[in-house]
Amino acid sequence: MKLIVKKYGGTSLSSPTKIKNIAKEIYLEANNNKIVIVLSAMGKTTDQLVALSEKCSKNPNPVDYDLLVSSGEQISISLMSMALKDLGLDSVAYTGWQAGIRTNNAHSYARIVSINANKIKKELKDNKVVVIAGFQGINNGAITTLGRGGSDTSAVAIAAALKASECQIYTDVDGVYTTDPRICDKAKKIDIMTYEEMLEMSGLGSKVLQLRSVEFASKYNIPMRVMHAHKKGSGTLIKKEEKSVEDALISGIAFTKDESEIMIRGVKDSPGIAAAILGPIGDADIEVDMIVQNVGSDGLADFTFTVSKKDYNKSLQVIDKLKKNIKYEDVISAKNIVKVSLIGVGMRSHAGIAGQMFTCLAKKKINIRMNSTSEIKISVVIDQKNLENAVKALHNEFKLERK
Ligand code: ADP
Ligand code: ASP
Ligand code: MG
Repeated sequence: MKLIVKKYGGTSLSSPTKIKNIAKEIYLEANNNKIVIVLSAMGKTTDQLVALSEKCSKNPNPVDYDLLVSSGEQISISLMSMALKDLGLDSVAYTGWQAGIRTNNAHSYARIVSINANKIKKELKDNKVVVIAGFQGINNGAITTLGRGGSDTSAVAIAAALKASECQIYTDVDGVYTTDPRICDKAKKIDIMTYEEMLEMSGLGSKVLQLRSVEFASKYNIPMRVMHAHKKGSGTLIKKEEKSVEDALISGIAFTKDESEIMIRGVKDSPGIAAAILGPIGDADIEVDMIVQNVGSDGLADFTFTVSKKDYNKSLQVIDKLKKNIKYEDVISAKNIVKVSLIGVGMRSHAGIAGQMFTCLAKKKINIRMNSTSEIKISVVIDQKNLENAVKALHNEFKLERK
């Protein structure tokens, strides 16, 4: 008998019928395997709770906020446990804190620090199906949440604590695709991929798995499998790198609409200028992603960087304050940009991929505003209006549909 952790996402739980159908599947599998179920909130519940908080407070207290937004998961676990019992399965439903999930105190983006798995182990030994609320834990008596999409991380962390054979992530697509299948209809399902590739995909914006869940899986070597919640299939297996999965040159394309671009024009090109700009930005807890500095013949430079959209206004305020210390001509900023990334561990040993990518975009008359490369990814910042065109063109250029 194997121990499997199964996580179901919001869309897969959006109605009582869907919950009952999942319960039936669990009922059929419970003869063969020990099962722990981790659930997200039903449908768009979390979005609705976030919207509600915005209506009641401009700047909600973090403890109150997490208490509110974590409540959706409590609804789904209770309903699932009822449905399982109706089928004759013995089950028990636990919120995060009841299941012994402790986090640090970074409310709304807390990290799991430990899980006391003894209670879950005892219930499993007593042949119960254990249903646990994802997305949440406890710190110092207060409920914390793990960031949007955090149930994926709850599931992998529980799988690691229980040394489960596999962590299965059930969602509204039947696996991880070469790019978001909702943007590119030629996207192709990947059968097997490495943690490293999935880390890049998630890190560069593909929200099918929360980044931290993949970090956890890789650290504790827990195989993850992404599958459709209501259709049969073997999904995508994400595991440690082995020879057989090394062949692919490019594994996929990810994109994010979360970033914004800020250009400070006409700063003096002298040592220390980057630090003088980015120091105060960092002090304001703003994370910078890409950075480019172009020097003109007049000895003045344009300094451009990207930050998450949520930090856009804050960044502009910081730069405005810099005026006292640094001379610059003006600031040009843009929110309507996207970052598109080409990903693949195979890229490490191949030259010329960046050139091929840039030529492909040029042929489509898509202007590249910024770019950055690493051993296994190339990212470009382009105008948002070109997103779909760029993803489709690159998908075709790198023959991802034929993999
Ligand atoms: P859940 O509610 O189950 O957690 P999410 O909405 O968080 O589901 O993640 C599933 C969605 O991820 C899909 O509907 C799909 O649009 C999106 N997605 C983005 N990139 C990819 C990709 N490369 N492969 C599959 N799905 C992707
Ligand atoms: N319900 C939470 C969210 O919508 C957690 C999750 O779905 O994983 O972000
Ligand atoms: Mg999700």
